[in-house]
Amino acid sequence: MSPEATSEEPAVTTEVESAVVVDRSSHSISRRRIPENVLKVLYRLHRSGYRAYLCGGSVRDLLMHRPPKDFDVATDAHPMEIRRLFRNSRIIGRRFRLVHVIFQDMIVEVSTFRREPERPSEENAELLITDDNTFGSPLQDARRRDFTMNALFYNIADFSVIDYVGGLEDMARKHVRVIGDPDIRFREDPVRMMRAIEFASRLGFQIEEGTYAAILRHKNEILKASPPRVSEEILELLRRGWSRGAIRLMVDSGLLEPLLPEVYRAIAGDRAPYFWKMLEVLDRTVQAGRKISDAVLFSVLVLPWVMEELEQEEQRRHGRMRIGDVLVFIRDLIQPICARMALPAGMRHQIELALETLWRLLEPPADRRSQFRFVYREPFSDALSLLELYALSSGKYIEVFRQWNAFAQRVKRAEGEAQPLPHRKRRRRR
Ligand code: ATP
Ligand code: MG
Repeated sequence: MSPEATSEEPAVTTEVESAVVVDRSSHSISRRRIPENVLKVLYRLHRSGYRAYLCGGSVRDLLMHRPPKDFDVATDAHPMEIRRLFRNSRIIGRRFRLVHVIFQDMIVEVSTFRREPERPSEENAELLITDDNTFGSPLQDARRRDFTMNALFYNIADFSVIDYVGGLEDMARKHVRVIGDPDIRFREDPVRMMRAIEFASRLGFQIEEGTYAAILRHKNEILKASPPRVSEEILELLRRGWSRGAIRLMVDSGLLEPLLPEVYRAIAGDRAPYFWKMLEVLDRTVQAGRKISDAVLFSVLVLPWVMEELEQEEQRRHGRMRIGDVLVFIRDLIQPICARMALPAGMRHQIELALETLWRLLEPPADRRSQFRFVYREPFSDALSLLELYALSSGKYIEVFRQWNAFAQRVKRAEGEAQPLPHRKRRRRR
């Protein structure tokens, strides 16, 4: 290939340290797409003599014409200096490494450039990062980040994009590539393996070969990651609507099996084809803006396994389980997963109730009074959302869902129309 850039490639105009710097006319980031408060923070830092860069996911998303979730700022000002510049700010976290600048409708996170902590020198020393609070240069800050596309900076001083790690090239190739040695970076923080999968699914990228091979090598180390972080990553991909591709990749790369072996066994191969359809429907639903509770999202994930276990249990018992038994059965079943994933007790309880109510909705009681009782039970709407997803994807129980849905609508309408009852004196019994 000729050394000259093709028309699609960004024009390289200057080199600072080992960075590629793309000037304002050669990239697509426009200040109009950066919120005013973020610009205020960047400009004030810059005018006070500090470096002020937009960093992380926001630069990646702006370059891809996607709306960033949040706008983080990186600077060489130290936290106390940032704190002094912004009256509306607060130093956050252990060891004071971040500053939140608080506006009415948003918080802008400002962090001082950091470098990765020293690694232990012995061959097999434990690599897990426990403390990453050492200030550094912009280059070091870029290198401690996870993927090349997440390590780009937008410099407010001259509106250029600074790339120390080949992120622009990887983005042009649609590659998720770990920065540095993937064997080291995944062992330091195994959650990065899940993040690689999440970004690939979200952006429609491929995981670069070396990065993917390292996931295959280190998949079992995901069990060393902190459970709340892992469950947050899983919930996040369900919440944001890219679960189908991501969970498929988690199955294919072998990450799901150590994490959720029960779920894995229920969906592996082609055991529950409706599961993938269900995630597709779910992704579409949340992308359309419908809010779905975390309890429902997690229930969707365990649904094929729980349904299979319930069906088998009823076969063993030769008939429907008694009402109280269903809840106990589900509680015992999902308790180990919830504990492993460190789900909060409240959410665990909601999941149990939603799954139990779903199971009972599948065989609606014949009389109206019992149906009413269902609609007024707290987990009814969660269970109805689950039933909707289950019915639409499996093709089973569609009529049951229609009936419950129509019934619930009627009850809601009747409630809306109901006048407050006139206060009636009770007739005293003689
Ligand atoms: P999102 O759009 O989901 O917010 P993001 O890229 O902004 O994506 P965040 O989790 O908000 O991701 O993290 C912000 C930045 O911090 C990332 O872009 C990356 O540079 C860095 N980062 C986050 N998690 C890690 C990690 N586990 N290891 C190294 N760097 C990380
Ligand atoms: Mg972010």
